[in-house]
Amino acid sequence: MSQESQSGVSASQAYKVLQNEQVGRYMVANRELHAGEEIITEMPFVIGPKACTYPLCLSCFTPWPPKPNDKPLCSKCGWPVCGQECENASQHKDYECQVFAQANEKFNVDAALDGNSENGVPQLECITPLRLLLESERNVERWNKEVKDMEAHNKTRCQKSQWKSDQINIVDYLRKRLKLDRFSEEYIQTICGILEINTFEVRTAKGFSARGLYPIVAMMNHSCVSNTSHSISPVDYRIRLRTTLKIPAGGELYASYTHSLLPTILRREHLLEGKHFACACPRCSDPTELGTHMSSLKCNKCDNGIVLSLDSLDSESTWKCTHCDFSTNGQAVRKILRIIQAEVDAAEAISGADGADAIYERETVMKKYRLILHPHHAFLSMLRHSLTQMYGRVDEYLLDDLPDVVLEHKVDMCRLLLQILDVVEPGYSRVRGMTLYELHAPLLFLAKGQWNAGVIDEARLKSKMIEAANILKEAVMILSLESSETSEGQIGLVAKESIIQLEQSINDL
Ligand SMILES: [Zn+2]
Ligand SMILES: [Zn+2]
Ligand SMILES: [Zn+2]
Ligand SMILES: [Zn+2]
Repeated sequence: MSQESQSGVSASQAYKVLQNEQVGRYMVANRELHAGEEIITEMPFVIGPKACTYPLCLSCFTPWPPKPNDKPLCSKCGWPVCGQECENASQHKDYECQVFAQANEKFNVDAALDGNSENGVPQLECITPLRLLLESERNVERWNKEVKDMEAHNKTRCQKSQWKSDQINIVDYLRKRLKLDRFSEEYIQTICGILEINTFEVRTAKGFSARGLYPIVAMMNHSCVSNTSHSISPVDYRIRLRTTLKIPAGGELYASYTHSLLPTILRREHLLEGKHFACACPRCSDPTELGTHMSSLKCNKCDNGIVLSLDSLDSESTWKCTHCDFSTNGQAVRKILRIIQAEVDAAEAISGADGADAIYERETVMKKYRLILHPHHAFLSMLRHSLTQMYGRVDEYLLDDLPDVVLEHKVDMCRLLLQILDVVEPGYSRVRGMTLYELHAPLLFLAKGQWNAGVIDEARLKSKMIEAANILKEAVMILSLESSETSEGQIGLVAKESIIQLEQSINDL
């Protein structure tokens, strides 16, 4: 590493920021960090609607209008809000509201409600960039120290179609219609880039999504196997970053800016498109994905062969069977993945609240592709992840209703999922915590059923209950790190109570 520089940090601080020519700024542990340790909490520099959004209240991000015949607009600027309270909330009143009022620029209700929902509402694309521009003038110290040097990738972005659309919907709109020509075109494009590359998704208490810019946390580099986890409060949007693994002093801190349950080709495409870099992390560099086989296909020309890419960092690379001489090209593999992905996405779009269909559709897709995909493939893991949370919760599939064979199916799915999560989401990750929680309940139900039927004796029942209790304890350890404002944090609290009861019944045996 060359020319490392370091900003001033105290010895007790958990992290420090270093810099070198290859990767720019990055973050390392300033001392040994234990698993589950909170390392950063930070308020957003700016918060606002996503780039492509449905019509929404500019303050609380709830879909707008609240009722078909009630279309409340801010009395000062004429843009969508839910009512008086949202009109007066600082993030609207003190930002775009004044600019719209001054320029006398109104929200086009008909265009927003008639529009094709896939493209969002172009007029709303300016909101978050505008808030960031105004904040750069008002919070100069934090802007200079934390935000202005954030990655914007203008050189690569200017060759993409998004750049041209930002030029029309944001740059020209702000400079011409809203008379903000004190900001140069390049400055506004940089603001768009900073937002596109660095924002985190936030969820409101009602479950609607928006985006927030957290400059310190965003300094972490990406790895497809991260060693940190963040959660964002739905109340005040504060972000909390913690470790998921023990990290030695000087060890780099990594975040994951993509979905861990995607195969390498799709993770790398997502990172290249959205974050403008080609990931070459250890997981992406290994055709077996660190032995998980989340990208591997089954060979249909021989019995036990697995078809792997010869070079997983090259999406055009040949794929070859490990047992016979079958091979195919990257393009053919991508084509198959696209087809399967569309079916997985369609199944995943059905929520558990819709009832038994949610389970049926996912099981159908899993069955359909089990001869093509490796049993640990990312797509099957994704479906398994949803199914483990649905069996036991969806109507007609509540735990009390499940026959032993379905309870066993749930146990198998949790265990298969944990095999890959132990590698790609190791340690105290939220998804491991939730999967462990889902595993303990069917284990208990099965054990009690077998004991009631006289299949196992009391000693065997006790050992099975101890196994379930140990799994539940690990789940509680992980989920109690989550904020009680989140559903995972709530499950952690419930699980903590269950342990006490479970230990009591083990002792009573
Ligand atoms: Zn509102
Ligand atoms: Zn207003
Ligand atoms: Zn990677
Ligand atoms: Zn083969």
